[in-house]
Amino acid sequence: MSNALCMTVDVEDFYDGMAALGHTVARRAEAPKGLVSLLDRLEAQPTKPKVTLFVVGNYAPTVRDDLVAFAAAGHEIASHGPDHGRLPSGGLVEWLRKGRQLLEDLLGVPVHGFRSPRFDVPADSGLVRYRDELAEAGYQYVSDASRLGARSPVREIPVLSWRGLRIGGGSYQRLLPFSAVAAATQGAQQPAVLYYHSYDFDGTLPGLDAVRSPMLARQVLGRGRIAPIAWRLTERFGSETCDHATC
Ligand SMILES: [Zn+2]
Repeated sequence: MSNALCMTVDVEDFYDGMAALGHTVARRAEAPKGLVSLLDRLEAQPTKPKVTLFVVGNYAPTVRDDLVAFAAAGHEIASHGPDHGRLPSGGLVEWLRKGRQLLEDLLGVPVHGFRSPRFDVPADSGLVRYRDELAEAGYQYVSDASRLGARSPVREIPVLSWRGLRIGGGSYQRLLPFSAVAAATQGAQQPAVLYYHSYDFDGTLPGLDAVRSPMLARQVLGRGRIAPIAWRLTERFGSETCDHATC
């Protein structure tokens, strides 16, 4: 029987993401715990969950040792783009391929999956062409919020949505009762793909004392709830990698 859940983690830098949106946020002074604390926690769970990390290529060298440890423990490394920008309107295949090759060269593992940084689909070329371009760039599956269906040359493993809400996201789960998140996971037609962010586990988020704007407050408040929700879900349902999921 396949697991009911695929836990995925987008591995990226919180501060770079804020800078891309035009906000400069002071980094917290304490040394971060690093992603290996997430790995230790997963290994300690009785269900032995396996997760997929969607890694931003230009951030990967910063956390290389942690990524190597994840891969060695049977977790999957996938691409979250060479950078955390929007999908480029020209040269998309090269951009996609670069994201994959950066990780393969750095870590020496094959990369089969892709998730775009913003779940976007290129506006000018559309979904059909985008799926073809993913295959051309060497990917076997995509995990985003769109579905082309049987015509797609790559497997589609979309994130969990429920009543129009992207409830698979930890950022949404922190705002909802746990029972609603668990019920949506349980009721999914195929493995429920949940997505979290590395900064919810690695100790790099700014402290509340650094919050200077309502926008940043929305980003940071309640994020402490996200990791415990992920632990409760993986303890109940287990987790398998997207690469192994039967969709
Ligand atoms: Zn991201």
